[in-house]
Order: sequence, then C-alpha cells, then structure tokens
Amino acid sequence: MSNLSFVSPSRNSPWGTYLAQIDAVEPYLGRLQRWVETMRRPKRALIVDIPIELDNGSIAHFEGYRVQHSLTRGPGKGGVRYHPDVTLEEVMALSAWMTIKNAAVNLPYGGAKGGIRFDPKLHSMKELEKITRRYTSEIGIIIGPQQDIPAPDVNTNGQIMAWMMDTYSMNAGATATGVVTGKPIPLGGSLGRVAATGRGVFVIGRETMRRMNVPMEGARVAVQGFGNVGSIAAKLFAASGAKIVAVQDHTGTILNEQGFDMADLLDHVAKTGGVAGFKGGDKIDNEDFWDVKTDVLIPAALEGQITQARAQRIKARIVLEGANGPTTPDGDAVLADRGIRVVPDVIANAGGVTVSYFEWVQDFSSFFWTEDEINVRLDKIITGAFKHIWETSEQHRISLRTAAFVVACTRVLEAREERGLYP
Ligand code: NAD
Repeated sequence: MSNLSFVSPSRNSPWGTYLAQIDAVEPYLGRLQRWVETMRRPKRALIVDIPIELDNGSIAHFEGYRVQHSLTRGPGKGGVRYHPDVTLEEVMALSAWMTIKNAAVNLPYGGAKGGIRFDPKLHSMKELEKITRRYTSEIGIIIGPQQDIPAPDVNTNGQIMAWMMDTYSMNAGATATGVVTGKPIPLGGSLGRVAATGRGVFVIGRETMRRMNVPMEGARVAVQGFGNVGSIAAKLFAASGAKIVAVQDHTGTILNEQGFDMADLLDHVAKTGGVAGFKGGDKIDNEDFWDVKTDVLIPAALEGQITQARAQRIKARIVLEGANGPTTPDGDAVLADRGIRVVPDVIANAGGVTVSYFEWVQDFSSFFWTEDEINVRLDKIITGAFKHIWETSEQHRISLRTAAFVVACTRVLEAREERGLYP
C-alpha cells in the first residue's frame, strides 16, 4: 500500500485513507498521471525532540513533527495539533489534505501540518508555553512567512500562535507577524478568523442544500464535536432556521427533537467544558448518535469517525465534513452506495485556511480589513470553489470528494509540470 519505508498504513488509517483517495483520482488526471507519484510522497518530514523542565523540576521529552507535503504552488500552510495520539503518519495525512484543500480553493500555498504527541490538558500554562516555544525553535529551520506558515488545529489556539510568533521573531531578530495565522488581533490576527472554519462549514452546507433542494428552515442537523468548528457551524445553522437535534463531544451525547436552544447550550459548554449534563436535552448513548434521523450530519471532531459499520446506520441526506478525514474509505463507499451525499473536508472546512490566507495578506500589507469585508470575501471564494467542484462532479459523474481531488491534483500537478524537475 505504501512505497515509503517509514510508515506502514492500513487501508482505513489517515495516510491509508489519503492514498486511497489519490488512487481514486488517478484515472481523471489525463497526461498529468505521469506526475501523480509526487502526491503520494511528502516533500519533507521533520521529527523533533522537545525537552523541557516541568514545574516539579524533572525533565520531560516530547515528540514533535512538521511535515511539508507539497511546496509546489507556494509556501507550506497548515495547523499544529496537540494530542496524545498524534503520529508522524497522521501528520503526513493532514499535511497532504492541506495540499489538496489549498489547491481546491486555489490559495497560493502548498500543504503542511504539525503536531506534538502529548495531552495538553495534563500540563500547566507555563509548561505549555515551554513546549510550544521549544517546538517552534526546533522547527524554525523550515518555517517562515515565505516557507511554511502554521495555524491552530485541535487543542491549539491564539495563545499558542502568539508564543510561536514571538519565539520565531526572537530567533529571527525581527518581528515576523506573517509566520503563523490564527493569532490574537493585537499581534496581526484577522477579524473573523476564529469563526472562519465553522462559517465555511455553514456556507458550504447551505450551498449543498440549495442544490439538493433541502430547505434550511426546519432542517434537522446533528453535530459531532462541539469545539471551534462544530459549535460555530451549529450556531450559524440554527440562526438560519435549522434545528440542531443532536450533539456529541468527548463528554457525551445529547438529543432534543425540537432543536436545542443554542445560546443556553453554548453557555453550558463554556461553563462546564462539554455538553454532558445539559438540561435542555436528553442524554443518549454515544453510539446512538449515528442513528439520529437528520438532513445534515456534521462530523467536526477527529478523523476516522464514520466507519463502515457507522455508515450503515447513518440516516442523513448530507454528511458535511467539518473535521479533517472523518470518513474512512470503507465508510465512504457505504455512504455512496446508500445515496448519502458526502461533502468532503477539503472544501467543507476550507473556510479556516481561507481567512488564514487573508490574515497573511493583511500582515504583509499592514492594512487590515473589516469583519464584513472578510466574511463577504470568504463566502465568495469558497462558494466559487464549491461550484467548480460540484460541476466537475456532475461532468465526470464522480463523488464530490473525487471531484475536489481532481480539481486540486490538476492544479498541483500542472504547477509541478511547469516548474519541471530540478536538477
Ligand atoms: P476543538 O479542539 O476546538 O474541538 C474538538 C471537539 O471534538 C471538542 O468538542 C471535543 O469534545 C470533541 N471530541 C474530541 N474527541 C471526541 C470523541 N472521541 N468523540 C466525540 N467528540 C470528540 O477542535 P476544532 O478546531 O473544532 O477541530 C475539529 C476538527 O476540525 C479537527 O478535525 C480539525 O482538524 C478540523 N479543522 C479545524 C480547523 C480550525 O480552524 N480550527 C480548520 C479546519 C479543520
């Protein structure tokens, strides 16, 4: 399955999932097939050791990664994840999906991703700062405003980006705001960035529903993952007349057939850290989440959630992938057989990187836009990208996922061909 010596992915693991997606796109690449192997190999993968002194005086070591899957169309771009299950293989897949996403939306970037294998919940702010700063210093040899620009992902946020920006700037001897995106506003962050991924999920969901004649008013929506992406997408769906009938996060699953009161639910999660114990709905078994009848199901937690078995149970018209890689290849095949429309992550959650691009552009020009300008430009760019992908899917009679890969791989491989091989 893999021609790389340092990973041995299974079919439904993240890198295995990505390789299966590249296999699916290959027949549609025409003369560019000659270059397709480049998509199956990350350009560069860096593994770093992160030693820090803990608050109790002992020394701990953490393993960190930064993978630049492609730099063909521009600098690397992609988030940094802090999670105990992070592996090189996972980061490789996430970096490759960034290549696809950036090209699918036609942003002038390659694809990259980073991660540290640890549980940030077990560390003090001081320790988190040390881990972040040492990691940034170690990967400093390959990141930079023109080389590779990290951003937040699972368990990282504006504070982590501020430390990364400061560390890189200290080492460089000059303030480099453009080295990361998703920064706090006073450090050159962009208005609208925090909400951008969830907003993009909503915009792409709205466009899909319009094309499938699913009315927004009263539409039933279920969301797995109620963090940055899931909660904001849910809030925007509810504000447009949809009902959020089921929500699952790491603390449990809740159901309300009439639709949750979003203000109350958001308040509960802000206070308690999760949906468990929310009075405005009923607790249900985690696995029963997959049986809830919906118009739109939004996986917005982690990858690999929609397995073959869960895909058999799903009663949704549309699966809108807020998370990266939430559907396994086997799950994808079942959904396709059952006529459930899957809107792939590479377009559904591209709102975040699109506003990251706006942030980077604003940092370079030192001229900042209003939130309205940002939201209007975001809507226009991702709606346009979605239209192109939808039409490609109709033209070749292929899934939206394969269509997004056709659009993206064509752009990457055309650039590869134009640039030629060095030497
Ligand atoms: P987050 O840390 O803010 O939220 C993650 C949510 O998932 C939390 O509600 C958590 O409780 C829930 N969760 C974790 N494990 C779970 C489990 N086993 N079962 C059910 N729920 C679980 O993260 P986020 O930034 O919202 O990212 C979510 C997904 O969206 C990830 O796949 C990420 O890569 C992707 N994504 C994020 C962005 C962004 O800008 N933040 C951009 C593109 C894609």
